[in-house]
Amino acid sequence: MRRLLRILLTAATALSLVLCVVTVALWVRSYHRMDSYKKVDIDAGRFLNVVSLRGGVQVAWAGGGYAPEPTGGWETFRRVPPSDWQVLTGSGTQTDRSFAGFRLATGDLGGGSMPFWSARVPYLAPAAALMLLPAWWGRQRFRGYRRDRRRAANLCPACGYDLRATPDRCPECGTIPA
Ligand SMILES: [Zn+2]
Repeated sequence: MRRLLRILLTAATALSLVLCVVTVALWVRSYHRMDSYKKVDIDAGRFLNVVSLRGGVQVAWAGGGYAPEPTGGWETFRRVPPSDWQVLTGSGTQTDRSFAGFRLATGDLGGGSMPFWSARVPYLAPAAALMLLPAWWGRQRFRGYRRDRRRAANLCPACGYDLRATPDRCPECGTIPA
């Protein structure tokens, strides 16, 4: 059971590290290219747009017949807009809050008939979250390595004090070596 947990933890750490690298790659790319994915449902009058630009991802949604163009899909633009915020066109924004690279706007493009919301998440947030597990894993590995090395050199495994004169108990921190 412990062994299985350790394998699962190692797999989750590796996956987290890979996803972190992908996130950082997209983050760097977002300053050189603007990637966009649009999903337009003309019949239902719904529009969804995911845009990666200037260090963040923005998702915009509108309903109630809002369809600026009939086609959707993936697009890449060589020119990145000067602003990191691609808010839906039209006046009608009711709320617009931003904090530390995050931003959320909601409103209505049709005076009550075309609700929309738009949200931005900076790449830094998922990149930092995905780095937590690999960082913890690395710390554990480093501690284990340091403990083994200290034991081999007759030093206290906890604090590194020389135990050649007092092998049963560390006089510095009280640790009893196994
Ligand atoms: Zn000690």
